[in-house]
Amino acid sequence: MKLWVTPNGDRWLCDECQEQYEKEIEEEGWRVAFEKWEPMLRCSECGHGDVDVFD
Ligand SMILES: [Zn+2]
Repeated sequence: MKLWVTPNGDRWLCDECQEQYEKEIEEEGWRVAFEKWEPMLRCSECGHGDVDVFD
């Protein structure tokens, strides 16, 4: 999970949701504060964690 610094504050995004925000990342200049592999973290967009199994 990456912590993104956005104009509206910091937010965690999984790789899947990151793809949906490519336009904002480009246009608004989002940057990655840091990346962390932490099972307890939840994506602020989809609410899933890095280790969730999609079935
Ligand atoms: Zn997500």
